[in-house]
Amino acid sequence: MHRPIYLDLHATSPTDPRVVAAMMPYFGEAFGNPSSQGHGFGWEAAAAVAQAREVLAAAIGTEVEELIFTSGATEANNLAIKGVAEAYPLRRHIVTVQTEHSAVLGPCRYLESLGWAVTYLPVQEHGLLDLAVLRAAIRPDTLLVSVMAANNEIGVLQPLVEIGAIARARGVLFHTDAAQAIGKIPLDVERMKIDLMSLTAHKVYGPKGIGALYIRRRSPRVNLAPQLHGGGQERGLRSGTLPTPLIVGFGEAIALALAERTTELERIRRLRDRLWQHLAAIPGIQRHGHREQVLPHTLNVSFPPAIATQVQSCLRGRVAYSHASACSSGRPQPSHVLRALGVPEERAIAAFRFGIGRGTTTAEIDTVAELIQGVVVTHA
Ligand SMILES: *Cc1c(COP(=O)(O)O)cnc(C)c1O
Repeated sequence: MHRPIYLDLHATSPTDPRVVAAMMPYFGEAFGNPSSQGHGFGWEAAAAVAQAREVLAAAIGTEVEELIFTSGATEANNLAIKGVAEAYPLRRHIVTVQTEHSAVLGPCRYLESLGWAVTYLPVQEHGLLDLAVLRAAIRPDTLLVSVMAANNEIGVLQPLVEIGAIARARGVLFHTDAAQAIGKIPLDVERMKIDLMSLTAHKVYGPKGIGALYIRRRSPRVNLAPQLHGGGQERGLRSGTLPTPLIVGFGEAIALALAERTTELERIRRLRDRLWQHLAAIPGIQRHGHREQVLPHTLNVSFPPAIATQVQSCLRGRVAYSHASACSSGRPQPSHVLRALGVPEERAIAAFRFGIGRGTTTAEIDTVAELIQGVVVTHA
């Protein structure tokens, strides 16, 4: 079978073969439970977990004690948001943004159903948060501001340094969902005054099913109510046997991403710009999201509805990309992100998200561009 060209890197990435290789021993002879402190099998696994934790901690500028492993960013977001809400019951207001991932919006809506107040901030037309709007939304009872680092649909990078400064000055905790950002843009919890940060491995060539939550321990110390109770792993904050192979893969994926980031992302950015140059002349095409404050591998465009349908059927089976809202499968839903940018519904349904990756070639980009241009020429 001829595999389609994969341009859906915001949904997930393939696990890098070097990551798979690093994981293999921990499925095999090094299978111990890192919590087994009575024998070498456990020590071996615990050492591997500790090493991965060090790589991750260094990547975001934290201490190893401040990172706990989760099953991914969805769980990390749930633990962060519900965990602080439960730990600080006297401050029942949360500020977040309309363009957040459903793994942030979902826990916020759940808390609303339990009586918390949540403000969903609008964004400007290019997707950036207006800092004056953020400042105005913070109330005396605001506990948490949750703003994602990089958007999963349009790639827009929120101004974390400024948001962190505002939150810290107002005595409000700052959580960021960095699922799309880790390994792609520099993250520093001190410089950005981040108190909680959600991470995941599978968007950055690591395995699916592993992520982490950073929880600040000093100035301020962040308290969190665990959402999983049991054996007391991860300092009691996240019970459950640690999946050593996945954790090792996470560490290896981040180490590779950091080592290769500069050259890799420059190549990818050039491919993204090449794709856009090919497409920019198409009548009625629109590019969504900020042009500079954006992940280097992201291109989100929409066409007039008639062309969009044709492009869609032409790319079917040939190119894997994301159409409209990726996470809610079934009938096409207009993307809530594009709607928040003010994109009309018929356009938001006709949006295409392309993500360019480590394995993408120039020839693939040119093929995709030719396919789309062919449609437009035929239907002009
Ligand atoms: C993919 C993604 C998530 C969910 O991460 P999982 O590890 O798959 O649970 C959360 N937030 C953003 C921004 C994402 O892109």
